[in-house]
Amino acid sequence: MLIYWIRNDFRFIDNEALRYFSNYNGKKLCCYSYDENKFKDRSAQRWWLYKSLTNFRNNLDEKKFKFNFSNDTEINTIKRLLKENKISQIIWNKIYLPNEILIEDKIIKILNDNDTSYKIFSSSLLLEPKKTRKKDDTPFQVFTPFWKNEENLYLNKYNYKNYNIKLPKIKNLKIYKEFLIILPKKNWYKKFEQYWIVGENEAHKKLTNFKTKNIFNYDKIRDFPSIDGTSKLSPHLSFGEISSREVFDQYQNIKKKNIRTRKFINEIGWREFAYHLVYHFPEMLKKNLRKNFDNFPWSKNKIHLEKWKSGKTGYPLVDAAMRQMYEIGWMHNRLRMVTGSFLVKHLRINWIEGEKYFKDTLLDYDTANNVSGWQWIAGCGADAAPYFRIFNPITQSEKFDPDGEFIKKWVPELKALPKKFIHKPWELPGDIATKIKFSLKENYYEPIVDHSEARQAALAAFEHTKKK
Ligand SMILES: Cc1cc2nc3c(=O)[nH]c(=O)nc-3n(C[C@H](O)[C@H](O)[C@H](O)COP(=O)(O)OP(=O)(O)OC[C@H]3O[C@@H](n4cnc5c(N)ncnc54)[C@H](O)[C@@H]3O)c2cc1C
Repeated sequence: MLIYWIRNDFRFIDNEALRYFSNYNGKKLCCYSYDENKFKDRSAQRWWLYKSLTNFRNNLDEKKFKFNFSNDTEINTIKRLLKENKISQIIWNKIYLPNEILIEDKIIKILNDNDTSYKIFSSSLLLEPKKTRKKDDTPFQVFTPFWKNEENLYLNKYNYKNYNIKLPKIKNLKIYKEFLIILPKKNWYKKFEQYWIVGENEAHKKLTNFKTKNIFNYDKIRDFPSIDGTSKLSPHLSFGEISSREVFDQYQNIKKKNIRTRKFINEIGWREFAYHLVYHFPEMLKKNLRKNFDNFPWSKNKIHLEKWKSGKTGYPLVDAAMRQMYEIGWMHNRLRMVTGSFLVKHLRINWIEGEKYFKDTLLDYDTANNVSGWQWIAGCGADAAPYFRIFNPITQSEKFDPDGEFIKKWVPELKALPKKFIHKPWELPGDIATKIKFSLKENYYEPIVDHSEARQAALAAFEHTKKK
């Protein structure tokens, strides 16, 4: 029997392991193993996983592919399957993340001990992280030369695939009761239903829409959170509902490529770069990539951390972004930078705390992207924003949400404030406050830190990173 071990690849198109499986004529079985431990601190993603797996299994059912679900670790599942069946081969798509590679290594050992053959496919990145190397054979740590090198290597072996495969359109999705254990206990996830359609079909719709419209203005609109200007492909990419190769290849097909459209494909490059980094520097998942940051005197202020998480810092753009993330499971990239900078610089709280909270709250949580995003914003990662460049939450707000539209949507208590003061409500003159019946203390929050003082304190703390 041939087993396809489904990992993070809930798609039919550009899925090498599944293609091999489909073409195999003998007895075969797909299996998915849900390891609770992997998802215990990824609450939001449990909702997406449930939906995505349901979708994918419906498609597998259409093809009459047998499916086995197990609520256990992947290692135990493979051991069980080996005991219960006469397995000739197990196949899977590789995940280039340190913890996943460890699991894979253990499974390979079990298979070797059992004289069972296996085949590993590479379907989740443009190129395997080890393929892109500097001339001196060391890994890249700077984005631009990395991406130039990887793009050239990829384009050299360029082999446009057929992405026009028709996916089944299933009207009434079958519900599999055994998957229900995946859903989080707290039912706050129910509101995600209003904002997202999960699955491979939707990922393709989004890509098609994006490449015919917003991509041509991407560099102009991508930074404005009140505009729906980015692709919102991130959760689909995180769950492998669409491959980055497909996004890249479809981009090659666009006739009017220019500097603007390139900005978009460079983001796919950042994703590749993030995977390249964690593959070569796995310690960065837990520790500062730049060791001099180990001396940074992080604050342990729990009240500040809680206020940041719940969107009660008194800085409207920061609060709007944090509330948006809790509500829809996604945050705009500009705001990930603003809120991230606020946590590590204004509040001087370790980026690890922010990384953890994003992991639990984002639908598009991606180990490599999240950790490299946080290390980038904290200044301790590869090719990172220098620590001393501190995002000003007021000017960022004035620049990227000039009319306060985004703020008004997520912090409705500020709706009545004139445009001039919505970014800094503490400056609202008394007569206007009386007229609109607004009191900072009663209706909103006083800023938890003063911007200029926090900036000075952050710069002083940064001096510690210069000490040996
Ligand atoms: C602190 C911080 C944490 C982040 N955490 C995550 C995360 O957990 N998961 C995640 O997918 N992205 C993360 N990002 C990157 C980025 O914010 C999101 O990928 C993006 O906002 C997703 O929206 P989109 O799909 O509309 O992006 P688009 O602008 O349409 O970009 C297309 C795709 O490119 C990739 N991409 C875009 N920006 C980046 C980037 N800076 N780094 C790596 N890949 C990128 C994503 O896969 C994205 O879907 C983080 C960024 C920061 C600063």
